[in-house]
Amino acid sequence: MRMTTHTKKRTWIRWTSFLILCGLVVLGFGGMPVRAFDDGTQTVWDGYAPTTVMIDAGHGGMDSGAIAFNGQYEKDLSLEYALKIGAYIQMMDPSIAVLYTRTGDEVAWVDEETTMDFEVDDLVGRSTVVNTYAPDYLLCVHFNSAEDPTAYGYEAFVRPEDVASQQVYSLLSQKLANAGFSADLGLLSTADAPLHMVDLTNSASMLLELGFLTNEGDVYAINDPVMKENICRSIAEAYVETIHGAPMN
Ligand SMILES: [Zn+2]
Repeated sequence: MRMTTHTKKRTWIRWTSFLILCGLVVLGFGGMPVRAFDDGTQTVWDGYAPTTVMIDAGHGGMDSGAIAFNGQYEKDLSLEYALKIGAYIQMMDPSIAVLYTRTGDEVAWVDEETTMDFEVDDLVGRSTVVNTYAPDYLLCVHFNSAEDPTAYGYEAFVRPEDVASQQVYSLLSQKLANAGFSADLGLLSTADAPLHMVDLTNSASMLLELGFLTNEGDVYAINDPVMKENICRSIAEAYVETIHGAPMN
């Protein structure tokens, strides 16, 4: 068959596309290391990852968050848990890229010297960081507090249409129940309780309140070394299983 210019061109395009595709496969799945740490604002991340999870440790800097009856700050606990959950996800599936909004006390997106309204600047800066990196999943880690010291349990907030985060919560609540951690207070919709970090981020976003710092039983459990690992592993598993679309062995 005689090739017309048109046919030659189409064949050329087909081959070029094929070669580009091969290149992407080699680059993408060739075992390039995925590094998942940041130094506050700059994420050092070389390599391709099919899925990204960003973990946001609540509060930080001049904002301690809730203060537990034993003097612990929510911002310190949220950071410890955020890093631990991220480490478990990386351990379970190194191809998932884990990013953090902060890995230390500092909230790099607010200038504490000049801010006129820390809370607003923090939320706007924090959500901007998230949307800049555009992770597939966002987990905001918080701890609750109440005037009533008998209030205990964990709960989470997601957008009403965010099926992926609802799936994560359903898995993690089963796992936390198996681990014997506190009580499931349920999944709340931001349609009823609007939340900046959940409503104004473009990821599958969940804000998790992991127990009450005003409750003795919850604070004891949160600080128990074995329970701490179980809680963080359970949450990590819930993400990895949701991402894989099947329970882990
Ligand atoms: Zn909080």
